[in-house]
Amino acid sequence: MIDCVNGDIVEDSRPTPTIEDYLSLFLILQRDNEPIVGARLAELLNVSPPTVTNTLQRMARDGLITQNDPKGAALTDKGLHAARSVMRRHMLSEWMVARMVGWSKSHVQAHEMEHVISAELEAALIQDLNNPQTCPHGNPLPGYEQVVKNWIPLTELNQGDEIIIRRVHELAEDAPGVLPFLEEKQVLPGVHATVTEVLPFNETVTLKLEKGQLVTIGFGVARYIYGEPA
Ligand SMILES: [Zn+2]
Ligand SMILES: [Zn+2]
Repeated sequence: MIDCVNGDIVEDSRPTPTIEDYLSLFLILQRDNEPIVGARLAELLNVSPPTVTNTLQRMARDGLITQNDPKGAALTDKGLHAARSVMRRHMLSEWMVARMVGWSKSHVQAHEMEHVISAELEAALIQDLNNPQTCPHGNPLPGYEQVVKNWIPLTELNQGDEIIIRRVHELAEDAPGVLPFLEEKQVLPGVHATVTEVLPFNETVTLKLEKGQLVTIGFGVARYIYGEPA
C-alpha cells in the first residue's frame, strides 16, 4: 500500500531505523549545503568511520544515495522522499511529545518514535496539529524551508539588536544538555530578547530576556540559535 502526504510517497516497507537516521542527517546537511562526507557523518552519528562506509554502501545499493561526487554523497529521488518522510514524522512526534512531556525532552523521545509512526497517524497528526511549518524548536518541516530563511544566527547579531528567538538548529537539538539548558533559561521560540554583549575573543553572546534576566551562550551553540529581528 502506498499513501501520499504532501507529495511524498510513504511506503509500508520503510528503511531500517539506522538507515532512517542517516537519511534525516543527509537531509539536514544537504539543505544546509554542507558536504556529506564519511568523517563528518561518523562524528555526528557517533559511530566509527568503517561503520559509516558500510552503511553508505548499503544505502547506495538500495538506491537511496549516490556516491559518485568526490565532494560527498547525495540523496537520490527515492532517498529524498524517504528522508523527507522520516524528518516529518520526527517533527510531528516532537510536537506530540512537547505537548505531553515538555519541549526539551521532545527531540530525544521523538527520535525513538519517528520510526514507528504509521502513514495514517502521520496524516492525523498533521491535521490535529494544524499543519505545522516548523518543529517545536523552529526547524522547518520538509517543504517549508523558506519559513526560516530570514532568521539570523545569534553569532551574526550585534550589541543592541532586538530579536524574537525563533529556532534551535537540529544539530544543537542533538547536542547533549543544550535543550534542557535553553528551557531552564527560557531561551525558547517566541521569546523576545536584546543582545547586550558579543565578545568574539571570549566567543560568547549575552542576551537580556523579557523579564530582564541575562543569559550568556558560547559561540558553539549560539551559532545554532536563530532570531528574527523584532
Ligand atoms: Zn529533533
Ligand atoms: Zn525539533
